[in-house]
Amino acid sequence: ASMTDPILVLGGGPAGGAVALGLAKLGFTVAVVATPRPFRAMEGVSERVVEGLRNVGFRYALEALPAPTPRMASWNGTAATANTERLVDREQLDAGILQDLQAASIRVITGRVSKVEEHNHGFDVYLKGQSEPLTTSFLVEARGRSAPSASLPRKRGPETVSLLQYWQGAPIAPCSAAASFTEGWAWMAAGADGTRYLQLTFDVASKTLPEKSLLVAHCNQILLSLPQAQHFTQDAEPTGELHARTSTPILCEQAVGERWIRVGDAAMAVDPLSGNGIFQSLSSALQAPAVINTLINKPENAALAQQFYQQRVDHLFHRFARIGRDFYALEAQWPTQPFWQQRACWPDTAPLHQIADPSSIEVVMMPVVKGGFIELAEVVTTNDQPLGIWHLNGQPLAPIAKALAQRKSHESSEACFTRVLGMPAKAAAQWALWA
Ligand code: FAD
Repeated sequence: ASMTDPILVLGGGPAGGAVALGLAKLGFTVAVVATPRPFRAMEGVSERVVEGLRNVGFRYALEALPAPTPRMASWNGTAATANTERLVDREQLDAGILQDLQAASIRVITGRVSKVEEHNHGFDVYLKGQSEPLTTSFLVEARGRSAPSASLPRKRGPETVSLLQYWQGAPIAPCSAAASFTEGWAWMAAGADGTRYLQLTFDVASKTLPEKSLLVAHCNQILLSLPQAQHFTQDAEPTGELHARTSTPILCEQAVGERWIRVGDAAMAVDPLSGNGIFQSLSSALQAPAVINTLINKPENAALAQQFYQQRVDHLFHRFARIGRDFYALEAQWPTQPFWQQRACWPDTAPLHQIADPSSIEVVMMPVVKGGFIELAEVVTTNDQPLGIWHLNGQPLAPIAKALAQRKSHESSEACFTRVLGMPAKAAAQWALWA
């Protein structure tokens, strides 16, 4: 493979878009295959997501985000209104992403991928209604939750489904609300034009849901009995059909090969409870270009790059899974309901944050992103930072940790740095205070 072979990105959501922009910046030729999402969806995004989209270099996509509006939350019998979020129409966001790609001279191919075949030199990608495949020597799988994964090792959380309904009413001030109920939780939003987006999330495995023909009535009964839903259903009527979205947490335990990588929801999809889906999909997409660059142009470091990427995907998935777990555990009104029981203890009992233990500090060689590639560098690991810290405030941390290990008894850390490193290491001292 060379820098001029076009890399094919399947899927033009936040992850596919971010990887394509990152690859173009590294000098690769990229083409993105995109098809509009088959249903309308409204999602709530935090300022973290806005920051993430900005860092990736999206401009038009940012214009699709409205101003933050109030978000109410009702959990474990307690109501709060402290929060805000931006209510984004995913059709508009995704259209903005494609505009950004075009503005960066990235080719966008409109089509639906129907089949991907791997052969000796790469991949043949077939689009619906076209007999000639697109060919590439490197594939980025970014088709979100619909990316095929049955042949790969996966870790799945409690089987979960979100049922969405649109209602229409008179225009009201845009706002959103999350509320728990016996069998699950609701996320509801109202757009300025009077559109109401009502999303109920349920457990699947416990079979508490009725058969398909009774689902709409079941959802409506829950909505009409949920006090927090009143604001959204009052003087409004359901429009259109019920739409189901799988929302089971899924980790792809092999998210990267030698000639392919999965990014965003295709690599790891989290529970929508966290409202972090777009954020986490950008996180994996930000690491991917350096991993791809290494796989293609420094194949001697391929194993290292794969290890780097998989470790981060695994780490991120478990972090979000534990955030979700702790949030579910806060809801204590229905401890024997399968929905709440299962989610309060998945994926494990490990604490979200380890208590930092200074005696766990080690200096080890680990993969890092360096000049657009994955390379080995000396990093500092601790029990709560198992992936290692390479730089802190622009300063490499390993020399500081090593110096500290040579501190004489009664020597101040400041004097130790001056003796071993030949400088007072101001930023180092700050870290050493903690160490
Ligand atoms: P996607 O955004 O899914 O993009 C994949 C793209 O690939 C799409 O454009 C799709 O059309 C395209 N595609 C799929 N199949 C094909 C094919 N065969 N050929 C060509 N193209 C194809 N996140 C939040 O931040 N806030 C929320 O409030 C929120 N709510 C959610 C509610 C639910 C019920 C669910 C399930 C998820 C929610 N998420 C939320 C998560 C968020 O939607 C995803 O994490 C995010 O969109 C992932 O980005 P992505 O680029 O990986 O995939």
